Amino acid sequence: MPASAPLPKSARRPRPATDYDVVIIGAGSAGLSAALVLGRCLRRVLVCDGGAPRNEPSPAVWGFFTRDGVQPSELLRLGLEQLAAYPSVEVCSLRATEITASDQCFTIVADTEASRTRSITARKVLLATGVEDELPPLDGMREFWGHGVLHCPYCHGWEVRDRALAVYGRGKGVTGLALLVSRWSKNVVVCTDGPGGLTNKARQRLQKQGIAVREEPIERLEGTEKQGLQHVLFKNGDKLVREALFVHPHQHQHTNLAEQLGCRLNSKGAVWTDKKQQTSVPGLYAAGDTTAGMQQAILAAAEGSLAAIMINEKITKEECV
Ligand SMILES: Cc1cc2nc3c(=O)[nH]c(=O)nc-3n(C[C@H](O)[C@H](O)[C@H](O)COP(=O)(O)OP(=O)(O)OC[C@H]3O[C@@H](n4cnc5c(N)ncnc54)[C@H](O)[C@@H]3O)c2cc1C
Repeated sequence: MPASAPLPKSARRPRPATDYDVVIIGAGSAGLSAALVLGRCLRRVLVCDGGAPRNEPSPAVWGFFTRDGVQPSELLRLGLEQLAAYPSVEVCSLRATEITASDQCFTIVADTEASRTRSITARKVLLATGVEDELPPLDGMREFWGHGVLHCPYCHGWEVRDRALAVYGRGKGVTGLALLVSRWSKNVVVCTDGPGGLTNKARQRLQKQGIAVREEPIERLEGTEKQGLQHVLFKNGDKLVREALFVHPHQHQHTNLAEQLGCRLNSKGAVWTDKKQQTSVPGLYAAGDTTAGMQQAILAAAEGSLAAIMINEKITKEECV
């Protein structure tokens, strides 16, 4: 480089020393998968493990290549076990509460299990904090959530194929979900729990697939712990025998960390990322359910892996000026 040529911006400012290269917030499929890749890249990584993953109420993770039917806790146990081979990766029971970004690093404030506060600095951060489901306020929804009340036929359709199924919701959303679920069973009833807001076209499409619509208000979902969901009980006393009910609940971000940094979110509140899992805030990456798109454990793991590679590429560029 000729003596007069300006140095690249990144070479002009000394990089502040940080506790870690990368802090990963969230130790579900996305976070643990990212940690594995970054550990293999010799990066100093802290994984903040804030507790249970979204699918904790479910007895199994279905459709995860080589792990079909594994318990959610077992999948993560295996992930943690395999991380132990990488000494530059630490996993701590920490709940991140605050995040700030300065010139070339992030500061994360997190609560420890002993209710202490820890402040941690990192060059890059990966948000893998997932979402929380907002179940409709109907008796039985929470009780049977994950085993009888199901959110996704790709995850659970096979287990309830050819059974008596209900699909709960209204309008366009319930129509699409019911048509999809009807690929797994010919015995599907839409339960709208009050006026369904269905267009004539939607009613025709449902009817064509043999899907009945019940618009009566529902009292509760009934069943037993042993046998699972058994009936939908309507307020008028009618009972509809059903073995499973599908619902697409609203959901919100598990944390407001992305908002704290002013990240771009989509209209549903998911964290926007580009194709490299980079959010609108430089150096902050996101993966898994916290981002937009299909929500599956294996897809979360894949996004975590991609984010890790992109983070390592970025740090490498910064180091090798
Ligand atoms: C009932 C149910 C059953 C499902 N079944 C299947 C299935 O069979 N197959 C399938 O592929 N998918 C299934 N899914 C979807 C699957 O659970 C998600 O797609 C997957 O868990 C997403 O992984 P993730 O790592 O993005 O988020 P999560 O698994 O939710 O992990 C996020 C982690 O971040 C932690 N966290 C949150 N906030 C903080 C914080 N502030 N600080 C530190 N940590 C924090 C959380 O405690 C959690 O451990 C199911 C979902 C539900 C609700």
